[in-house]
Amino acid sequence: MDPREGVYRNFMTFHCGQCNTVWADSLGLCGEAKCCDSLICSTVNLSIEVTLDVIIKKEIQSSLEEKWENCIYNSLSCSGCGCSVGVVLVSAPQHLASLRSLFLIRKENTNCYQFSDGSMVKASTLNLDIEAIGTSIATLKQEMEAALEHISLLHGSLRESSTASLD
Ligand SMILES: [Zn+2]
Repeated sequence: MDPREGVYRNFMTFHCGQCNTVWADSLGLCGEAKCCDSLICSTVNLSIEVTLDVIIKKEIQSSLEEKWENCIYNSLSCSGCGCSVGVVLVSAPQHLASLRSLFLIRKENTNCYQFSDGSMVKASTLNLDIEAIGTSIATLKQEMEAALEHISLLHGSLRESSTASLD
């Protein structure tokens, strides 16, 4: 099966649980961080990571919330209703270090619109694990490497034939 088929078949958009504003889509999703019950969005898939309706607050904050203990972050809010979308970690202890600079969207506030069957479900009912998505990124990477190799072979044979025609 073409792995990209899976990406589009499972395409979904992520919405505010209160006002339905679109926050992100599955092309910008790179999994979920179970430790902080958040979806992870970044530019890994060369897509936009979140929509312009996710407002990044300029002031840097810290929180007494247990999951963000010892973290410094910019919080994210919804342009539609002002509710909290999640955070972008600026500084974090070791166990959260890999999540720095990524958009972390609270699953509990998020709804998912699934294009496969046109249904809107709570993100908290879905498993958007990094492992499953990581596998499809790895497959895509392999395909791109194969394509690149093919192009360089073509390039090489073109150069050979142009050199030959000069003789
Ligand atoms: Zn909202």
